[in-house]
Order: sequence, then structure tokens, then C-alpha cells
Amino acid sequence: MKAGLYIHVPFCIRKCPYCDFYSVPGSDETLKAEYKKAVIRNTERYLERYPDLIFDTVYFGGGTPSLMPADFFDDVLGSIKGRLDKEAEITMELNPKTADEEKLGEIRKSGMNRISVGIQSASDSELRDLGRVHGFSEAEEAVRAAKNAGFENISGDLMIGIKGQTEESLLHSVNALASLRLKHISSYMLKIEPGTEYYRNGISSDVPDEEKTAEFYLLAVKTLAEKGYSQYEISNFSLPGFESRHNLKYWNCEDYIGIGPSAHSCFDGKRYEVPRDLSSFITDSHQNEEVNEDHPCGFFEKAMLALRLTSGLDLGRYPDEAPLVLKQAQKLNGTGLINCGNGVISLTPEGFLVSNEIISRLLADF
Ligand code: SF4
Repeated sequence: MKAGLYIHVPFCIRKCPYCDFYSVPGSDETLKAEYKKAVIRNTERYLERYPDLIFDTVYFGGGTPSLMPADFFDDVLGSIKGRLDKEAEITMELNPKTADEEKLGEIRKSGMNRISVGIQSASDSELRDLGRVHGFSEAEEAVRAAKNAGFENISGDLMIGIKGQTEESLLHSVNALASLRLKHISSYMLKIEPGTEYYRNGISSDVPDEEKTAEFYLLAVKTLAEKGYSQYEISNFSLPGFESRHNLKYWNCEDYIGIGPSAHSCFDGKRYEVPRDLSSFITDSHQNEEVNEDHPCGFFEKAMLALRLTSGLDLGRYPDEAPLVLKQAQKLNGTGLINCGNGVISLTPEGFLVSNEIISRLLADF
């Protein structure tokens, strides 16, 4: 049985004011060593319980995985060596200023073959407003170091809807990321989540409004397409053949196992989540997994996730449900929000902007 493996690394240099991912500031080496033991212990537990389990993707996300020493990756990947597909895609998120070429070279040797760099913007003032610890030149340096260390498959994050962002600054960022010759770009719209510093400081009035952000999104989609990046998901773009295989598992409702506080899993007929508690993850013999859903990946869920992808929902695979979805799709014909043909329904970029509403209308009968 094949599955993806997600390993959460909950450490950051400091907390960015917009971020609601689970991470703690600081870089205590003893704590990191304890964390490594807990990650290996929990991963091995799965390998023992599922003797035919093979990981064909591994993703180190965070937090800031690149803050971990190189031996973290060597030891974690070493512990699953016999159970890694030989073509496995193995990704690490990297924040500029946290790993140099030498360290990246060591990480490359551990088997890592894909890097995702948290660039966000090519404008230093926007990066400052986001509370990032790096400027754009350091992001460029991180990409250069990763390439020199032997990484060919590099992705970059670009944020839309940042305070002070203009059409010109967005275009500048898109062009700058494209000129780094990245294989993949993730372009997320800033969302101000409860619990973040942005939320507490009421920053919503300072960021571009919904209409402006929507314009920026469409501009990014168009410009990325002109640069050769095909959109394959609401927020993800790649050169041909460089779609994120790990993230596609989420949208295709395939099995993945999450290790670490706040990690999610969809595995063996259940969806579950590990509590956001670093100390219990380290001290407990195994991570506490709270089941959110038994029997996930029914038609509704599969359809909802497929509609996030530009490949869309192939109704040929669901003959029983197809008539009801098509009936709803007819009501949206001519709006420019969906494409419908040959039994496949997909959302257009304009549709992606209102995806929640469109998807709930298409699936209203389920
Ligand atoms: S570096 Fe990333 S994970 Fe860490 S606080 Fe900033 S946005 Fe969040």
C-alpha cells in the first residue's frame, strides 16, 4: 500500500504576524533532538503496524524545517529507507536565511529532491510588512544555494493581497519569481485568521480589499501562464511535469500520514489530526490522534476536492451522481465560472475566486 508522509516541523525563528500554522519561536538544539526521536518513533510505529506500507512522497512542512540540522533529515529518511519508493518525491520547505549551500548539500545527500522556498514577494517593504526575517535578495540567494547544492525541482511561494501591494509590485514579484526559473509556484491569497497578530491588530483595513485581491489573483494567473506556468489547482502552478505529487494526494483523496503536532492524516479509512501540543508529542510514547471523520472520501468529498483542480470533476467515474451535478451545472452555464464538456466539470480562474459558493451549488443535491 502506497501513501504520502507529512512531517511537521514546528519551529520558526520568530512568529510571522499573519501565520496560523502551528509553530513555536526558538531553536533549542536539545528540543530539536528530542523532536527527531519522537518523529522517528511515531513513523516507525506506522511501519510496524502496516508491513506493506511504502511512502511514495514525503513532505517536511512547518514551521521552518530548514531550521533543523542536516542530520535530522538523514536520520528520519534513514529510518524509512527500506520503505521509500525509489522514485519518491521528497520535499523540504525552506525559509531564506536558515540554510546555506553547504547544509543544503548535506540535506540533498540524505535523499531530499525537492525544495519549496518561502519567498512571498520580491518587494522588501512588503516582506517587512509581512514580518518576514529576510529580504528578496536573501530569497534569491536561497534559490541559488539550493541549485548549487544539486536541487533541480524548486518551488517558490508568492503571496497575494499583502498590505501595500499594487498591480506593479505584484507583477514585479511574479516576474522575479519566474526569472529564478522555478519549476513550481504556489500563489496564496492572504487570509487574516483569528488568533494571528494581524487579526488582533485589526490589519484588515490596511490590506487590499476583496475586489482588488481578486483582480491581483487573476493578474497573477494570467502572467504566470504567459511565463509557462500552468495552473493545476486554485493556488498552484507549475512547468509541465512538476506538479507537487505530495499535494496532489490531498486533492485526489489519496492516503497520507501526518506526523507531528497539528499534522493531519487521511489514512486507512479515517481522517485524523494530532493536537497542537509540542510537549506531549515529545513525551508521549505515540502521538495522540483525534479522529475527525470515519469513512472519508465519499462522493461529496472527492468531488469537492477534484473541483479545486483545473482537471476538474470527471463525472464518467460517478454515473449515479452525474445527472444531479449536471442539472446544477446547467444553471451556471454562461456565467464564465465553470467549464463543462465531455462529462468533465472544472472551474475557471474566475470560478476559483468564488470556489466555495460554486462548489456548494454544484453539489447542492448531496
Ligand atoms: S516562517 Fe512560515 S510557519 Fe514560521 S511563522 Fe512565518 S509563515 Fe509561519
